[in-house]
Amino acid sequence: MTGKIECIQVGRAFHGDGVSTNAVTNINLSFIKGEFTSIVGPSGSGKSTLLSLLGTLDSPTSGKILYDGEEIMKKSKKMISDFRFENIGFIFQQFHLLPTLTALENVLSPLFSRKVSYNKVERAREVLEQVGLADKENSLPSQLSGGQQQRIAIARAIVHKPDWLLADEPTGNLDSETGDRIFELMKQLNEQEGCGVFFVTHDPKLAAKADRIITMKDGSVLSDRKGESIGYN
Ligand code: ADP
Repeated sequence: MTGKIECIQVGRAFHGDGVSTNAVTNINLSFIKGEFTSIVGPSGSGKSTLLSLLGTLDSPTSGKILYDGEEIMKKSKKMISDFRFENIGFIFQQFHLLPTLTALENVLSPLFSRKVSYNKVERAREVLEQVGLADKENSLPSQLSGGQQQRIAIARAIVHKPDWLLADEPTGNLDSETGDRIFELMKQLNEQEGCGVFFVTHDPKLAAKADRIITMKDGSVLSDRKGESIGYN
């Protein structure tokens, strides 16, 4: 269980073809489990890089990230991967569903080779119900709309009860009405499951509905403020 994430002087530089890019620099932020945070900014401002770092998919090239005071990325690959499975769920713009598996099997897939203390199929059915697709458990992804496929991807991301849900432009492939519904679903799951949410978007209107809004520009944090949902803005 992880209740707090702290970024201390975090930077990530990429080197290649004699060119060096500072994707993010001097990031100092801390997050408490349960907060719904949007990360907004133009393309190339460092949002996805920051998300990958927070999700332990990537390591900082300077500074450090602490999870309840521990620097997870200094541990063995197995420990990092176990930590990631236990604590984090991911959602991407492309839904990345396995096309030959049904909705229920897709949702179950993160649990296939894991030992858990609960009944896997019951849990998968529970999250399918939470995302409003209990009646679609036998459908293949190709039989579902884009919004429904993203709901399945969300169910798959929360099935193992992560502390943190990380979403990279989850509404990017959807029309604005469906995108709004996906955002609302994620807010609802944030309240029901108590997980912290990071919601990356380039849409300032959607971002404003979060509890906290981090605006990125050129790899740095331009602002960190409270959102509409808690009466500011
Ligand atoms: P955003 O998500 O806001 O669009 P990114 O985090 O994807 O921004 O990218 C930030 C900057 O880092 C961009 O200039 C991008 O080109 C660069 N960058 C990201 N990933 C890589 C990579 N793997 N190799 C080289 N440069 C990268």
